[in-house]
Amino acid sequence: MNQVAATTDKVNLLDFDRQGLRDFFAQLGEKPYRAEQVMKWIYHRLEDDFGKMTDVGKALRAKLEATCYVGPPKTLFDKAAADGTHKWLLGMDGGNAVEAVYIPEPTRGTLCVSSQVGCGLNCQFCSTATQGFNRNLAASEVIGQMWVAAKHLGNVTHQNRRITNVVMMGMGEPLLNFDNVVTAMSLMRDDLGFGLASKRVTLSTAGLVPMIDKLSEAIDVSLAVSLHAANDELRTELVPLNKRYPIAELMGACLRWIERRPRTSITFEYTLMRGVNDQPEHAKQLIKLMRKLPTGSAKVNLIPFNPFPGTRFERSDADTIRAFQTQLLNANILTMLRRTRGDDIDAACGQLKGQVLDRTRRQAEFRKRLGEGVAHAS
Ligand code: SAH
Repeated sequence: MNQVAATTDKVNLLDFDRQGLRDFFAQLGEKPYRAEQVMKWIYHRLEDDFGKMTDVGKALRAKLEATCYVGPPKTLFDKAAADGTHKWLLGMDGGNAVEAVYIPEPTRGTLCVSSQVGCGLNCQFCSTATQGFNRNLAASEVIGQMWVAAKHLGNVTHQNRRITNVVMMGMGEPLLNFDNVVTAMSLMRDDLGFGLASKRVTLSTAGLVPMIDKLSEAIDVSLAVSLHAANDELRTELVPLNKRYPIAELMGACLRWIERRPRTSITFEYTLMRGVNDQPEHAKQLIKLMRKLPTGSAKVNLIPFNPFPGTRFERSDADTIRAFQTQLLNANILTMLRRTRGDDIDAACGQLKGQVLDRTRRQAEFRKRLGEGVAHAS
C-alpha cells in the first residue's frame, strides 16, 4: 500500500485478472504458475508486500519490486454505523474519492462497490447524480475497494468469510465502465481471487440495453435492473436513460438474459417515493410488466427512498410500502423489502457521495458521448 504514490511507472497488479497476470508474468520471463502463486498472496492472504511472499523466490521478488506493485486505493476515512454498517471513503486521484459500504446481516455480509467517480446518468432521486460524472474507475480501483474492505474486516477467503456477497450498486453506472468492471468481477469470482459464486456477485444497471447483452456473454454474474417505474413516461422522468432505452427494449434484454441463463432470476429494484411511484396503479403496472418474464425469473426489490440534502422526493410511509408489497405478493411476484441500513452515516442506497472534482467539462463530454450512442462508449 505504501508504494502507490512513488510508483506511477510501475504496473499495478490489481489491474489484472488471472489471464492478465499470467501474461504479465510471461513477459517477465516467468512461468504462469508463479502468477497464480502471487495471486493467492494478494487475494487470499491480502498481502501487498512482495517481501512477505515467502514461497516466492528472492530473484522473482526483486523483479516484481522493480516492475510492479499491489496498489489498493487509500482509505481517506472509514466510519461504522450503529447497526454495524461500515463505510470507507477511498481516495483515487487528485482529490477524487468514492465510497464502498459493508452491510452485515445474520447470514451474509454484503459489500456495495462503486464503479465510477460520480455518475452521468442523472437519475433524479440519487445523490451521486448531483455530483455529475468525473471518470471511470480502473479495475484496480474497483477490486481495490473489496481488497481494502476485506483486509479491514479480516475476511478469510473460502472460510468464514466476512464478505459473502458483492453488489455493484455504489456510485456510478457499472455498464458504462464495462471492461474494468468485468475484470474486477472476474477477480471477485475467481477461486484464486475472492472465490464468490455467480449468484453472490451482482451488477446493478439503470438499463443500458446493449451492454446487458454484452455482459451476459462476458461473465457469469447476477443482474439487477433499476426499474423504479413500469410506465415510460414516469420512468423517463426518474431515470432519463429510459428515453434512450425504453421499458419494452429493457424487458427484451432481460428476456434474452434469462434465455441464456434459464435457472437464474433478475432482481428489479424499485425505489419507493411518496406519491410518485408508490400507488396501487403503479403496483398494477409493475405486476403486468413482471408477468412478461417467465414465472420465477423476476424478483422485485423494494427500496424505501433514502433522502439526501436538496432532494425533492420523500420516502413513502410504512403503510403504503406494505400495501405495495402485499399487492405484488398477492399477484405471486416474489417481492423483498430492502431494510434501510447505515443511514446514520449516509451509507444507505443512493446516499453515496464521495468526492468529485473537475466535473463540468467531463459532464459535457459525457452528455455528448451519450448522445452519440453509449453502445460505443466502453
Ligand atoms: N447505476 C446503477 C448502480 C448504482 S445505484 C443502477 O442504477 O442500478 C444502486 C441502486 O440504488 C439503484 O437501484 C438506485 O436506483 C438506488 N438508489 C439510488 N438513489 C436512491 C435513493 N435516494 N434511495 C434509495 N435508493 C436509491
